[in-house]
Amino acid sequence: MKYFIIFGPPGAGKGTQAAPMVQKYNLKHISTGELLRSQIAAGTELGKQAKALIDAGELVPDVVVEGMISNTFAANPDVNGFLLDGFPRTLQQAIDLDEMLESRDESVTGVISLMISDETIKERIAGRAAIEGRADDANEETINNRIRTYHAKTEPLIEYYKYQGKYHEIQSVGTIEQVREKVFKLMDTLV
Ligand code: ADP
Repeated sequence: MKYFIIFGPPGAGKGTQAAPMVQKYNLKHISTGELLRSQIAAGTELGKQAKALIDAGELVPDVVVEGMISNTFAANPDVNGFLLDGFPRTLQQAIDLDEMLESRDESVTGVISLMISDETIKERIAGRAAIEGRADDANEETINNRIRTYHAKTEPLIEYYKYQGKYHEIQSVGTIEQVREKVFKLMDTLV
């Protein structure tokens, strides 16, 4: 089974590029952000707790997202592979993912990292706020905190996966189609 991770700061285009990737490479898409937003929409207890954290630009606890990931793995035994989007986001999540996969005699296949500057993060999120109406995109303080959280907690994963020889970086600039072509070119070497 293949386990790909699409990685990058908020607004890098992970969700946008994930859609054509799962189609072309026949993967099951797991977006922790989307799973959390559907819990919020359904008004569950988990959703209520997650909403306060997400709206503040904080991460939800590792144990919560890890539970969602392992449930999705268990519910999809027959897929060709997975594309993890928005997970792992902390070193602990990366370590726990490696353990989860090791217990199944599997491992991460590769990390596709979409890179943009902090300046571009802000522009993209401002553009998306108008279209998608996400509460965590509309507030400047929240956006700044998400950027801070990314640098403090998520960026260290770059070294973690470089050390494993699994880190592949793409500049996520130009049009969506141009980035998609770069992603496909890279994916063709990994599948
Ligand atoms: P973006 O990449 O634009 O920040 P996501 O949809 O991936 O958006 O995530 C939205 C929010 O959901 C994050 O800011 C965070 O609060 C929460 N979240 C998503 N994935 C995780 C995760 N793996 N660990 C902790 N919190 C998460």
